[in-house]
Amino acid sequence: MTTIADRLQAVKARIHAAEHNARRTADSVLLLAVSKAHPAASLREAFEAGQRLFGENYLQEALNKQQVLGDLDIEWHFIGPIQSNKTQPIAQHFSWVHGVDRLKIAERLNAARPTDADPLNICLQVNISQESSKSGVLPEDLETLAMAVQGLPHLRLRGLMAIPAPTSDIELQHKQFRMVRELFTQLKAKGYMLDTLSMGMSEDYAAAIDEGATIVRIGSAIFGPRPRAETVMAQP
Ligand SMILES: *Cc1c(COP(=O)(O)O)cnc(C)c1O
Repeated sequence: MTTIADRLQAVKARIHAAEHNARRTADSVLLLAVSKAHPAASLREAFEAGQRLFGENYLQEALNKQQVLGDLDIEWHFIGPIQSNKTQPIAQHFSWVHGVDRLKIAERLNAARPTDADPLNICLQVNISQESSKSGVLPEDLETLAMAVQGLPHLRLRGLMAIPAPTSDIELQHKQFRMVRELFTQLKAKGYMLDTLSMGMSEDYAAAIDEGATIVRIGSAIFGPRPRAETVMAQP
């Protein structure tokens, strides 16, 4: 039987191989384990196998797991779509938010971030495949948003996040990730102090690393196929 620990090791080995192929420094890519729809026991298993960064998409599900796993030193990343009425708990209970794509959300997160906490780390989600996604800021509006977010004192703008249209075409994977990297490079050239490119999932992280990803967000390759939501709710 393949365990979560086995799959985690296999993913890490593939990340190292991709870093090596791209002539990047070993361990320059962080692994964010995407645990949505998996029970807290699976996160605990991954934590015991050495995983510390976890990404969750749904607020209530995440808060439940945070409670059950309160004894573990986990860094929590919110990676789901953000509704404006959920910004307060998100700003209080996470270290990172990856999906910020409009100023109103950023302002609400800034206002709700506890002042005694470190600034909330933010990635702006960019939409580089408009036909398949409605979320993400369009490339032409990115700099305006970056400038405004940069000015919010309780947020720390770290970089960009993208969810390109899924494809098994490796060339197309590269092309999409390259577009995100180019936007990232342009912002840095304009003086933005960015260090994070959050891109790459179970099916395309090798290409993402080749194009400069610094955080890959991986779910099913670590935890297996996602169970139905009802099952998760029944077993915390
Ligand atoms: C679910 C999800 C992932 C992980 O997807 P897998 O294909 O299971 O690796 C990564 N990023 C986001 C934003 C997600 O919603």
